[in-house]
Amino acid sequence: MNYIEDTITALATPPGAGAIAVVRISGSDAFVITDKVFQGKTEIAKSASHTIHYGKICTPDGEQIDDVLVSVFRAPHSYTGEHSVEISTHGSQLIIKKIIEMLIQNGARIAEPGEFTKRAFLNNRIDLTQAEAVVEVINARTDASLKGARNQLDGLLSQKVNDLRTRLINSSSLIELELDFAEEDLEFIDRTSLIQKIEEIISEIQALLETYSFGRIIRDGVNVALVGQPNVGKSSLLNYIMKESRAIVSEIPGTTRDVIREEVSIRGILFRLFDTAGIRSTEDAIEKEGVFRSREAVKNADVVLFVNDVEQNFPAELYQELLELSNKEKIITVFNKSDLPHTEETDSVFVSAKTGKGMDILFSKLHTAAIGSNSYTEQTAIVSNARHYDSLKKSKESLQDALDSIRAMMSGEFISVGLRAAESSLSEIIGVVTSDDILNNIFSKFCIGK
Ligand code: GDP
Repeated sequence: MNYIEDTITALATPPGAGAIAVVRISGSDAFVITDKVFQGKTEIAKSASHTIHYGKICTPDGEQIDDVLVSVFRAPHSYTGEHSVEISTHGSQLIIKKIIEMLIQNGARIAEPGEFTKRAFLNNRIDLTQAEAVVEVINARTDASLKGARNQLDGLLSQKVNDLRTRLINSSSLIELELDFAEEDLEFIDRTSLIQKIEEIISEIQALLETYSFGRIIRDGVNVALVGQPNVGKSSLLNYIMKESRAIVSEIPGTTRDVIREEVSIRGILFRLFDTAGIRSTEDAIEKEGVFRSREAVKNADVVLFVNDVEQNFPAELYQELLELSNKEKIITVFNKSDLPHTEETDSVFVSAKTGKGMDILFSKLHTAAIGSNSYTEQTAIVSNARHYDSLKKSKESLQDALDSIRAMMSGEFISVGLRAAESSLSEIIGVVTSDDILNNIFSKFCIGK
C-alpha cells in the first residue's frame, strides 16, 4: 500500500523536562530534512539503517541548539514502514520546540495524534488490532492489562481471526465455483461437510466472544462498591486495602464527595473501589443526592462488598435492598472487626481492618469474583475491545444465516451471501476493510507522537 508522501514529525516522549527527549520524523524526506539541521561525521541520508550518529543540531546561522544522537531506520524496516529518524536530545522544552520548528521550516509537518501508528497500519507493518493494542500497552496500569495488551500486540487475536477468515474464504470460494457452473448442477462442497465446517467456525467465534467479559476486566478493571451501615468500618477497610495493595495514583475525574473512588491493583487486576455514603431512603435533600449516587454505584458495580460489624445485628433490610439493586452472585458479605470477640457461624468472610486478619481471604474472593475461573494464558487470544466483540458477533450471526440457508436447501447464492458477510465482519477486526470513520475513531484516541 502506498501511503501519503509527506514527512511528519512530533515529540515522542512525554512533554515536560526530562533527561532525554525523543523527536520522531517519518516519511520519504526524513533523512534529507534531518541533514538540513544536523551536523555529524556522516550524512544521515548516506547512513545505513539501524545506526546511531552523534552530532549537533545547529541553526542555519551556525548557532548550536543541542548535541544529539540520531537513530536511522530505513524503509521498510521502521515502525511506520517509511524512512524514519529518532533524534534523542536533552529533555528541555525549549530545545525540543526549537528542533521541531527547524524541522518544520525544512519541510516536515506536525504529526496528527496517532499518525505514526496509523502509517504503520496503512503501510502493512501491523494490522488494526495491533495498532489498537499500542494504545493499550501505553495505557496499561496493571500486570494483567499489560499482558492482555501485549497479547494483542503480539498478534494472537489477529492470527486467530485470520485463520477463521481463511477457512471461510475456502468454503465460500467452493460455493461460488458452484454458481459459475450452475447449469451443470455440480456440488463442489457437500452440504453436510459445509454445515460441519461452519458450525466449527461458529463455535470458535463463540469461544472468542466468551473471553470478552474476562478481557474487559483485565483491560478496564473491576468496579467494587463498599456498602454497609455507618461505623462498621468501611473507611478503615478501604484504607487498609489501599495500604496493602498497590495503590494506583492517578487523576480521577468525577470523584464526588459522597462516593469516594480509589484505584488499586490486587494480584495484578485493577479494582476501582467506591465507598458509598449510604443507600437507605432519606428526606434530607443533600443526603438524597448521596443516596442516589450510592445506589447508582451499587447498580454499576461488578462486585458489591457488603461490610458488616461483628458487634452489630445483621441489617437484613439493607441486604434485601442490595439484592434488589444488584444480584446475589455479585455480593461478598464481610464481617469486620473480627479482632473483637465474636462467633463465626456463616460462610461469610471475617476480617479486621485493624489487624489485617482475614484480608488474604477477602483478596482471593475479590479476585475470584472478578475473573471467575478464568486464568490468563499467553497462548490464547482474548477479546477485550468492544469493536472486536461487535464484529465477531456480526460474523457469527451471518454464519447462522448461512446455516439456515443450507438447511432450507436454498441455492448457493444465499449461502454465499452469508459466508461473505461473515468474512467481511472478521476482516473489519484486523482492518482488511475499514472505513475512514473507523480509522479516525481509533487513531484519534492516540496522543501526538505515537
Ligand atoms: P465507616 O463509618 O463504616 O466508614 O467506619 P469507620 O471506618 O469510620 O470505622 C468506625 C469505627 O470502627 C472507628 O472507630 C474505627 O476505628 C473502628 N474500626 C474500624 N475497623 C475496625 C476493626 O477491624 N476492629 C476494631 N476493633 N475497630 C475497627
